[in-house]
Amino acid sequence: MSKTKKLQLQSLAVHAGRDRTAIPHTPPIDLSTTTRIHDLPEAIESITAINQGQVASGNPIYSRLHNDTIAGFENALATLEQAQAAVAFASGMAAITAVLMEANQRGDHIVACRPIYGGTDSLLQSGLLGLDVTWTSPHQVGQAITPRTSLVMIETPANPSLKLIDIAAVRSQIGDLPLSVDSTFATPVLQQPILHGADIVIHSATKFIGGHSDVLAGVVACSEAYAQKLRRIRIATGGNLHPLSGYLLHRGLQTMPLRVHAAQKNATFLAQKLRSHKCISKVYHPSLPSCDPEQLVGKQMVGPGALLAFDCLDGFATAQKVMNRIELITPAVSLGSVDSLLQHPAGLTHINAGAKSRSEAGITDGMLRMSVGIEDQDDLWADLLQALSG
Ligand code: PLP
Repeated sequence: MSKTKKLQLQSLAVHAGRDRTAIPHTPPIDLSTTTRIHDLPEAIESITAINQGQVASGNPIYSRLHNDTIAGFENALATLEQAQAAVAFASGMAAITAVLMEANQRGDHIVACRPIYGGTDSLLQSGLLGLDVTWTSPHQVGQAITPRTSLVMIETPANPSLKLIDIAAVRSQIGDLPLSVDSTFATPVLQQPILHGADIVIHSATKFIGGHSDVLAGVVACSEAYAQKLRRIRIATGGNLHPLSGYLLHRGLQTMPLRVHAAQKNATFLAQKLRSHKCISKVYHPSLPSCDPEQLVGKQMVGPGALLAFDCLDGFATAQKVMNRIELITPAVSLGSVDSLLQHPAGLTHINAGAKSRSEAGITDGMLRMSVGIEDQDDLWADLLQALSG
């Protein structure tokens, strides 16, 4: 990488985390689960450092402790998030679980805001990790803090209604308590939460980072000191990413800015079209002023992103009809792929969050959420139009 000039994100996405002194042009995929130990005292020194949470500089010993292919992806992601470090996990939920386990060692109360991904919502409600959760609005986070609070957890843009939270405004209420932001919907292309006061940035890397619906992964960008704690949890609990996934994610980062910008353009076009359709009562996309009352697009986010949602006027009946009739768009959960996906949050991604949570989050039975892909915008609109009018 250039030693003289600070590179733009699009260049960093292509080059970060790649060893320019290596002979192979693409990073090798290291599939070894174990390593040959040539010198026992050296190996003991190495495993001792790794067990303290340090990145392996000597023999990595065992792939649950360290893997070079994954470390390359982690370095690249950390660079894009302007973080000191990143730690990858087997899924977004494994990453969130590790963050919550770390918090629980410092205090068993966390403060969170809805809407939030249904899996996160139900994990927080489950009591599985022994945490007490206070759900509150972003403006009242400060009042919800108790002496036992160890983490404030937000998601922006939020799944599924694209609600935006002002990260700096939350930071200003919570002193030096750790603030985690699930930035999956934004990606570092559109938002770098650390610049706005977050300490911990979570991604379901399954989504835009992988970009092709073929990798399940999670990653946390943070300080090196916090990364050391997460690495220790990853070693202890084994929520590791597979090296092949690490390779695919590192490759996915290279085209992520292009994919995100192309999909965002399509989403902005479709949000306008959907707004004037007679079967739709409300459209949610941060390009619409109603969805961005605090004008965070342009301030906190570079653009409105590639996810949108809409409420069907006739509720579930129309939502079901559209899901059944779409042809080009795939009826499927998940998001961030090159192809467009449409899903029903109340019945699918947020079913385990329960009716009370869905009502608090504004998720209606007639809501559909679309992850807009990079297909031709007119083809996408034609598909939605035929599905809505059938
Ligand atoms: N965070 C958000 C915003 C999500 O949308 C999801 C999954 O949809 C997750 C976290 C969980 O990620 P994963 O499915 O990779 O475990």
